Amino acid sequence: MSNDFLTKPVQSLKTIGPRRAAILQKAGIFTVKDLLYHFPRRYEDRTRLREAGACAHGETATLRGTVLAAQVIRPKHGLTVTKLAVHDGLGVFYAVWFNQPYIKKNIPVGTKLYVTGKVERSFGAVQVTVEEYEIDDGGDSLSAGRLVPLYPLSGRLNQRLLRTAVKFALDELDGHSGEFLPEELLKRFCLPLFHEALSAIHYPGNFEDAEKARKRFIFEELFLYQLSLALCRKDVDGREKLHRYLPEGEITKTFLEILPYRLTAGQAKVWREISRDMESSSPMHRLLQGDVGSGKTVVSVLALLKAVESGLQGVLMAPTEILAEQHYFGMKRLLAPIGVEVALLTGGMRKKEKDELLERVLTGEVAVLVGTHALIQDNVCFNKLGIAVVDEQHRFGVRQRAALQNKGSWPDTLVVTATPIPRTLALTLYGDLDISVIGEPPPGRQPVKTYAVPHRLLTRVYNLIREQIRQGRQAFIVCPLVEESEKVDLQAAVDLAENLAGGEFRDCRVGLLHGRMKAFEKEEIMTSFRQGEIEILVCTTVIEVGVDVPNATAMVILDADRFGLAQLHQLRGRVGRSAYQSYCILVAGPKTEEGRARLKAMTRTADGFALAEEDLRLRGPGEFYGTRQSGLPEFKIADLLRDWDILQAARTEALAWISEDPHFQKPESAVLLDEVKARFGSAGSLDPFI
Ligand code: ADP
Ligand code: MG
Repeated sequence: MSNDFLTKPVQSLKTIGPRRAAILQKAGIFTVKDLLYHFPRRYEDRTRLREAGACAHGETATLRGTVLAAQVIRPKHGLTVTKLAVHDGLGVFYAVWFNQPYIKKNIPVGTKLYVTGKVERSFGAVQVTVEEYEIDDGGDSLSAGRLVPLYPLSGRLNQRLLRTAVKFALDELDGHSGEFLPEELLKRFCLPLFHEALSAIHYPGNFEDAEKARKRFIFEELFLYQLSLALCRKDVDGREKLHRYLPEGEITKTFLEILPYRLTAGQAKVWREISRDMESSSPMHRLLQGDVGSGKTVVSVLALLKAVESGLQGVLMAPTEILAEQHYFGMKRLLAPIGVEVALLTGGMRKKEKDELLERVLTGEVAVLVGTHALIQDNVCFNKLGIAVVDEQHRFGVRQRAALQNKGSWPDTLVVTATPIPRTLALTLYGDLDISVIGEPPPGRQPVKTYAVPHRLLTRVYNLIREQIRQGRQAFIVCPLVEESEKVDLQAAVDLAENLAGGEFRDCRVGLLHGRMKAFEKEEIMTSFRQGEIEILVCTTVIEVGVDVPNATAMVILDADRFGLAQLHQLRGRVGRSAYQSYCILVAGPKTEEGRARLKAMTRTADGFALAEEDLRLRGPGEFYGTRQSGLPEFKIADLLRDWDILQAARTEALAWISEDPHFQKPESAVLLDEVKARFGSAGSLDPFI
């Protein structure tokens, strides 16, 4: 019964009419369950009601009293002040609101109410600037005399609306357990029952109860997630691929022969792992990890070629047009001599051209298709897709990655990332996803020399660039781009390129590259930069991921303190890709302690893992891995780093549960399975890389 109640729309609750329902829906709250799972961020301790006379000037207090009189004054144009005189049983205080003239009507004389706000005392009078009020109807107060929940807000949501709605939902839930976690687990981990935990997380009697409830929901979330991963993995492992690969093929062999370098030991190891997976009968699901510049591309290309030599097609998806083009041209150069047909699909293509290409993909004439997210459109169909590779996988959403996989019938999947996810965390999170790591960079690389300098030393920075160019090298100058004001920022990049080309670097060839340029313009610029015609590339962060121009040895980042560590590390990864000494100059005048610490971390280490850890330390748990950069799942209440112990426990329990009841036949298992499906979709369609 209570489960039915939980799936009802929020409108079914008392006091929630269409207007309030719309506000809730905007915030993603559609059902009663969504509402109850909108947990408070924290609580404010308003257990003690105060007497006005005993309050100190400047403190925030909660008071109760009866309205004696009301007054609205307009001291100047555009300002209204509503002032209620309230008697708290001992004396009078004034409750004050600014620019809310309707308050007078809402709270008639004689009303009993609670107010919370900042207290000011002047000449003996006590005045409270009201942050929040609640009418005292004799029942339990939701905003006073207790630990009061403070919810995360968005849109037109407000605390009062959430508190009342939640209270109604809890009252109706009363008496129905709704429990879906196995009793034995709850007992063992001392976790409260579902309905108790809900009530305690919203309206706790004390902080300890709130904490216990929170722990239950964290465990619940991680346990269900681990179950879903285990289920998904079972599904994939149990499946037989329709396609098969030849063990030792001609094409990969020839490719390795014509490659201008030898694979490093790390690359060779990873390539062995991948080909073994591909030759097995169940689909590959592998994460290829390696720091920027470690040489992940060549391994991805080998995997694509393995498909080709077995008569299958391969697809490679990259997050930016610039990167997709780079992969395309790079592969074309290497693969044309071997007779492998590579094609490029991006969003900017003309219709006729695109239709022709799609036809050749459908017939199987195109062996390897490279592209941006344009690849996942419905009209892209393969003849026989054997493998899907996603480069810089953290830049794609779950759905995009799944959509690419769905272009084939259980193709092998390789996702590639430079994001340093600690191995233990990745293993725990991704269930039994296989991980390959390239540990060392190609031979002969020198560490990039990194300096942080103030703006006033810009001339010296430019001298360094000039010296590099004199030696035949090239440089990037990155201007910050903040999405909020893209136009203004773009203009800054345009102006800078013009100024440099006409002034400081009159004698050099300066180019400009930004995200708003047409595809063919970007292509032209990148081609001239790659061929050395452009010596200095002024650009925005469009070159952040993947770009590989080994002759570039100087990376200058302006206002470097405006970038996050992960981003700075990626940008620095654009240089240091050859045997030449490279330089990364961070030009900044950091205003915050954190900004300074970031720059310092960059100059101290070039190791992606060390930087990730530093980033964690600076920004606190949750931030680094919670960001878009990480590609890790976002949880509602669990925090992967803070809740590390619970995560481990949840994983152990989930695996034990599945091994004990692999077909979910126990009644408790059936209930669990329903809950897993409700949260993470049906097991078969789950993406193991969520
Ligand atoms: P990332 O791992 O960042 O994607 P890339 O695959 O773009 O790195 O490789 C970086 C550079 O190193 C490229 O210029 C590539 O040609 C070169 N490279 C890759 N593997 C080797 C190797 N074994 N020996 C020498 N150079 C290599
Ligand atoms: Mg790369």
